[in-house]
Amino acid sequence: MRLTRYFLPTLREDPKDAEVVSHRLMVRAGMIRRLAAGIYNILPLGLRVIRKVENIVREEMDRAGALEIVMPVVQPAELWMESGRWNRFGKELLRFKDRNDRDFCLGPTHEEVVTDLVRREVRSYRQLPLNLYQIHVKFRDEIRPRFGLMRCREFVMKDAYSFDRNQEEAENSYWNMYKTYERIFSRMDLNFRAVEADTGAIGGSFSHEFMVLADTGEDRIAICDTCSYAANVELSGKKSMASYPQEKELPLEKVHTPGVSSVEDVSRFLRVPPEKIVKAMVFNTDKGVVLALIRGDREASPPKVRNAVGASYIEMASREFIEKNCKSAFGFSGPIGFKGIIVADEELKGLKNFVIGSNEKDYHYRNANTPRDFNVDLFADIGEVKEGDGCPKCKGKLRLIRGIEVGHIFMLGTKYSEAMGATFVDEDGREKPIVMGCYGIGIGRTAAAAIEQNHDKDGIIFPMPIAPFHVYLLVTNIKDETLKSTAESIYQGLVQEGIEVLYDDRDERPGVKFKDADLIGMPLRATVGDKFKKEGKVELRYRRTKEVEMVDPEELPKRIKEVVDACLSGKTGKEGEESPL
Ligand code: ATP
Ligand code: MG
Repeated sequence: MRLTRYFLPTLREDPKDAEVVSHRLMVRAGMIRRLAAGIYNILPLGLRVIRKVENIVREEMDRAGALEIVMPVVQPAELWMESGRWNRFGKELLRFKDRNDRDFCLGPTHEEVVTDLVRREVRSYRQLPLNLYQIHVKFRDEIRPRFGLMRCREFVMKDAYSFDRNQEEAENSYWNMYKTYERIFSRMDLNFRAVEADTGAIGGSFSHEFMVLADTGEDRIAICDTCSYAANVELSGKKSMASYPQEKELPLEKVHTPGVSSVEDVSRFLRVPPEKIVKAMVFNTDKGVVLALIRGDREASPPKVRNAVGASYIEMASREFIEKNCKSAFGFSGPIGFKGIIVADEELKGLKNFVIGSNEKDYHYRNANTPRDFNVDLFADIGEVKEGDGCPKCKGKLRLIRGIEVGHIFMLGTKYSEAMGATFVDEDGREKPIVMGCYGIGIGRTAAAAIEQNHDKDGIIFPMPIAPFHVYLLVTNIKDETLKSTAESIYQGLVQEGIEVLYDDRDERPGVKFKDADLIGMPLRATVGDKFKKEGKVELRYRRTKEVEMVDPEELPKRIKEVVDACLSGKTGKEGEESPL
């Protein structure tokens, strides 16, 4: 591709709205342009990266035995009512009416549509297992779209859905996808980790997220320093290391704490350490109102609270709700006299004489003790893990790192098939619900995460498997006939070798060209310039290491082919056996 014929609007300055490096660099490298909040145009250079990501995903999904389909973006409300998610999904679901006043939404995910498709077509166990996938547009009306393609409203996802006869076979499909995801992200040369995760609004019994490790990631991951345990912090288990000295229970005492409600302020005001204060947080769930009790030096994790009470939906209660329905002053909630399910973090077992809210404005209790002063319905691990907590699986300690969720797989079980009547007749003649799994990869987010992990102060450093071009061919002075003709013949040679080359044939200063080359980050740069004039050699430079090789122009296409092949070896998706699925 000749740059003079290409559409590559690079920028010298960082865009003002870009908070993270991948967003800045994707805009500056002319890959994307914003149309509206969380809605982007993808320009030619960006699209080449997106297509490479998609192709790797497609090859590996096909190899795993999944079949590609395309489902509509516009979905009828009836299906969402059948699954029960029309009301539960919240504002992320963009709803609208057609001219006949029928309700529709833009698909944020496709469980309903695919379950409907399969229930109409699949009758017998002979048609199973089945794994259907698409690489297509999703729309989620995110509260805070940001970070460019990382968290947008309109984005492309690979979503796959597996259908099996029973739990055991469904789990085989699940682990087949798990291995497929490992292959996909390895092929892209990304540093990633699979972690145990929450099932969220999608539901189901267990799930894993695939995290690209990056300090700028929005997700926090707990990993054990001893065993292979890794989990999203919002779900990660912990072993309580707390041990408390024997203490006599002191009399309960109500204390005036005017305007003092945060743990920090209460601690200062009453001169008690945060470990001796118990925070109470009110949640609304589908099982009723829940009061979660947690030690003042820790946060409650809503997904863990939700799982502890067996709910499938949870949200923090609003001030208005707490004051009206719980008869509790906001900021002063506490378990004594509270009507609702009381769940306490395991760490509170054995804690004596602690401070808690009294439900009355500006008052706390001191020397509270359970069960003397109130009953706890359930002790469970509901606290978010902290650095140094005990691993739930071994004697090791947990460390916290950051990551970007690029993929997520869920064991759904029969949640959707039962709600929507997707059944089949098994070998024994009995009608059974199909057991499902679902599997997503954010295509644009993966491209952005790759940049988040691979860049330096000058720009992007694309891993070869997803680089838009393999090599940036640069001629320092296009007006110099010798340089130009040499560059032209190298360009032809590269094209003949099947190398993807971006040829900077612009009439620009060398400085501008070098800056652009570094910014857009092709793994290799070949320069026809001074060195050619002096020594007859072309400079081949590696973007990541900045190492330089001097090569004869005639040799260059072959040499570049060698390097590209070496980078892509074992990553073509063609070697190896077909998956048995
Ligand atoms: P998050 O927790 O980041 O909001 P999610 O858990 O809601 O994501 P899933 O429903 O698991 O997302 O979607 C599968 C994949 O789709 C995610 O792993 C991610 O790669 C991608 N994805 C989800 N939301 C977005 C978004 N707003 N923009 C870009 N990609 C997204
Ligand atoms: Mg997810």
